[in-house]
Amino acid sequence: MPLDLRTIYAVAAATSIILGLLQLSAFATGRFGRWPLWWGLSSLLIGAGIVLVVLRGTLPDLIAMGLANTLAWAGYLLVLVSVRSFAGLRTSPSHYLVAVVAPMILLVLWIEPGGFPRRAALVALLWACCDAAVTREGFRLATRGRLRSAWILVALFLPTSILFFIRAILAWNGHFGDELFPPQPVPMHWTAVGAAALVLARGNALLLLAAERSSSQLAALAESDPLTGAMNRSGLDRAVAALSSPAGRSQRAALLLIDIDHFKTLNDTHGHAAGDEILRLFADMARSQLRQGDIVARHGGDEFVVMLPGLGLQEGIRVAERLRRAFASALAARPGLPSAPTLSIGVAAGDTASQPFDQLLQDADGALYRSKRLGRDRVQARQEEAPVS
Ligand code: GH3
Ligand code: MG
Repeated sequence: MPLDLRTIYAVAAATSIILGLLQLSAFATGRFGRWPLWWGLSSLLIGAGIVLVVLRGTLPDLIAMGLANTLAWAGYLLVLVSVRSFAGLRTSPSHYLVAVVAPMILLVLWIEPGGFPRRAALVALLWACCDAAVTREGFRLATRGRLRSAWILVALFLPTSILFFIRAILAWNGHFGDELFPPQPVPMHWTAVGAAALVLARGNALLLLAAERSSSQLAALAESDPLTGAMNRSGLDRAVAALSSPAGRSQRAALLLIDIDHFKTLNDTHGHAAGDEILRLFADMARSQLRQGDIVARHGGDEFVVMLPGLGLQEGIRVAERLRRAFASALAARPGLPSAPTLSIGVAAGDTASQPFDQLLQDADGALYRSKRLGRDRVQARQEEAPVS
């Protein structure tokens, strides 16, 4: 089937410009940060560059080749800037300018007749490198940033990177002929069709990533206590359900119910803000003392639940003692904070698969009640166990 490359380019240019306008309108909503701005400008510049390419033959070469390639490359590089911006990375404007201008000097030098294979190879190589860099960012977002939809970026940019590398080699070796729009189509022009389709298909990929990121941020917000950053009850319920499911990390767990002593008095004498500060200090201390996978949740007021998956009662008691002492040290290390509050802790342990969480909580509550009755500032375990302090 004969391919009209100029028409393919014209369609790609129009689609790119329309996509650019859509991406800029996403930016205008103000909900997505700056990355849609770079992505939208990128699509517009690529579209404008391709329009000039389509007009090759009717415009002076310096515009239809030099300016066209400059615009398209400047736009193409903005995709990388946009993905980096999405990942929270800033791109230095001077680095960007150097990366745009340096290859353009070569492209303008190669405007002479017969320079097409070198120009085509260089452009394809630049685009391949850019796509490889975007693939790397996508991989990082998927692994370190735990955004599963970032694999879409990898899936969309890795093939184009490979495709453009192949195109660069073929162009350099003259497989694309001597001009962009030859009278007789070259079979290798199919790679241009494939590349154009992929470039357009990935136009809104970052919107999918943004959707996943904001929904997981919302879920995290809905499950955390805004004052301390600890889980709230919903978060605790979900974490406990995950723990007791067959896929959970361990069936055994220790549960600590922790209450700050005389907290009401502290609020009354030092003010509510000082009380808040103590609550935050407790949560920070607990997070720093515990392992990843342990759960810290604010159960309400000045009461916290700590779940320690995989631990039995004695190990739970040891952790509780450690938290009690660490809280005292953290308070002593913060000048200006009232030093009075201590912790009373009740410990229970059980099999989360066979024992309802409420039962564990009740056991720990009984132990906490005893530590309050025995004078506070201590750890007590479930009734059958010997008190430890
Ligand atoms: P006990 O030693 O028996 O635990 O005595 P307590 O004074 O600590 O008594 P209790 O645990 O019942 O008091 C909880 C207090 O926590 C009551 C409430 O005013 C206060 N509180 C609840 N939520 C917050 C909060 O978000 N910030 C502050 N500053 N205080 C809170
Ligand atoms: Mg209390």
